[in-house]
Amino acid sequence: MPQTLHLKGLGPAGALLAIRAAQRGYSVVAYDPAVDLNRATPFPGTYGVFSTQIPAWADALFTPPAPLEVVAGLPTTRRTLGFEYRMLDQAAVVKALRESNVRVVAEYVPDGHPAVDCTGAPRTDAALWQLAVGWFFSDRDAPRPQPVFMDWTGAEAQDQHAAPSFCYIQRTSEGWLYEETILATHCPADPAEQQKVLDVLRNRLAERIARMGLDPESVSREEQVSIPMGTRRRHKERKFGAAAGFINPATGYSLGHALEAADDVLDGRRLGGNLAYVLRQVGGELIARADGATLQDFFGHFFALDTERQLAYLSGRDGLAVARTMWALREGTGLSHEFLQPLFRRPWQVMRAVWARR
Ligand SMILES: Cc1cc2nc3c(=O)[nH]c(=O)nc-3n(C[C@H](O)[C@H](O)[C@H](O)COP(=O)(O)OP(=O)(O)OC[C@H]3O[C@@H](n4cnc5c(N)ncnc54)[C@H](O)[C@@H]3O)c2cc1C
Repeated sequence: MPQTLHLKGLGPAGALLAIRAAQRGYSVVAYDPAVDLNRATPFPGTYGVFSTQIPAWADALFTPPAPLEVVAGLPTTRRTLGFEYRMLDQAAVVKALRESNVRVVAEYVPDGHPAVDCTGAPRTDAALWQLAVGWFFSDRDAPRPQPVFMDWTGAEAQDQHAAPSFCYIQRTSEGWLYEETILATHCPADPAEQQKVLDVLRNRLAERIARMGLDPESVSREEQVSIPMGTRRRHKERKFGAAAGFINPATGYSLGHALEAADDVLDGRRLGGNLAYVLRQVGGELIARADGATLQDFFGHFFALDTERQLAYLSGRDGLAVARTMWALREGTGLSHEFLQPLFRRPWQVMRAVWARR
């Protein structure tokens, strides 16, 4: 008799856990009233992960690897990163869920088997928010050689109506996506308040693509992104994905972490990673307090680190490796860098904000 795994929530993280569990012989029942596997793209976003985070069992669920550029620093420097990037192929995920006979039910009926909570991160006022507006262009209207993880060009001169933003550029199944992105900011959870910030981002995106020579008339669709970071469900039951605090406030990403943690959860191992979690929360808080020039310069230093150090901060659960990256960074920035000043001038404010999201 196969073991049954019950999932509450079948977003991208729940779906990856379901696929891995089915591969390992579990029978999977998932409850999510919002997910329709008859749609080609059941999840609302476009999701990328670093190639280094994809285990062999999930290889077929991602597009082929592509190199990534970063533009950062004062003055700006363009670099190709030492790791590659892959996009979640939603059609492949749906196919795998179907072939694994994952049962999606409309109503959650507790039957003595507690479900793993995959319901996403709590959307609260205490969260740090990643907010973005993205426009899709056909390959013909926006031909590009390669994707860009972060382009901070112009951040030092941006208007003060919203936090500083960079541009993320990625090839998707809908063409090229150009996304004006605030990495981390304090903002109320109220959608009306967030819409004001998204409107500023839309204006910045329009200016940016005009500078790049693209035609706004050829935009095929707009994507709006609102990701709560640094919050997690507080109950004691098993949690996975954004519900378990997997979202990294340096990127807004969690799916790489979900891939790395799936086997641990199925084997009942503790996930650990608390030191990494707290250090990244502090890092996220500093990002949210920095102005455009500070972030543009800071990320120039970050992406000048060697690849191993970058990946230790951007992915993984090794707290000491995260601390080593932070320590190595100060060789480039010095301790007097504006980015670090809230730690010296207002340490209690920083700690209080981190504590409020714990
Ligand atoms: C547009 C966009 C782009 C993004 N890009 C990336 C990216 O490139 N890489 C990356 O790693 N992350 C990305 N993210 C971040 C993203 O939030 C998370 O990484 C990812 O969605 C987390 O997946 P999840 O399944 O844990 O949670 P969610 O995606 O939030 O899914 C939670 C699911 O639980 C369901 N649910 C909620 N409450 C209940 C309930 N009470 N009962 C049953 N079901 C419930 C919801 O319907 C939903 O389907 C992006 C987010 C957005 C919005």
